[in-house]
Amino acid sequence: MAIVKFVADTMLGNLARWLRLLGYDTLYSSSFEDWRLLRIAEEEGRTLLTRDESLFRRARARGLSVVLITYDDIAEMLACVAAKTGIELSFNPSRTRCPECNTLLMKISRAEALSLLGNNVATKYDEFWRCGKCGKIYWQGNHWKTINLILEKANDLINKL
Ligand SMILES: [Zn+2]
Repeated sequence: MAIVKFVADTMLGNLARWLRLLGYDTLYSSSFEDWRLLRIAEEEGRTLLTRDESLFRRARARGLSVVLITYDDIAEMLACVAAKTGIELSFNPSRTRCPECNTLLMKISRAEALSLLGNNVATKYDEFWRCGKCGKIYWQGNHWKTINLILEKANDLINKL
């Protein structure tokens, strides 16, 4: 797996959440200004993801790793990033990050999930993760089918964009 770290511009919050879910360290804030995005990419060796063509050109001119996102569909966006950077688009339970705050998630036991969530959810699922920073708890609920479908579509598109 290619270890690529990202910083995403203010228009790519959804893409940032997806990359975190897939385990990629991705910085994002709706208040990052262009100069700050460039500085973070430069100082931390992160690949800049942007929808802004002029920012893309500025990053290029500085020799930074940058991907211009021209798609709107999330599967297409993910496929585009994978095609340009070589990242794998698959879910790995040991490297998944909190979609909200980018922190590596820790697996917790069902008993722990039970005490934190209450019965109805915790008894239905087997695997749970907790974010040590923001405290959110995650499990592979009903939305997981949709996530897998989007990943399948994205993987299918990698060589076709
Ligand atoms: Zn978190």
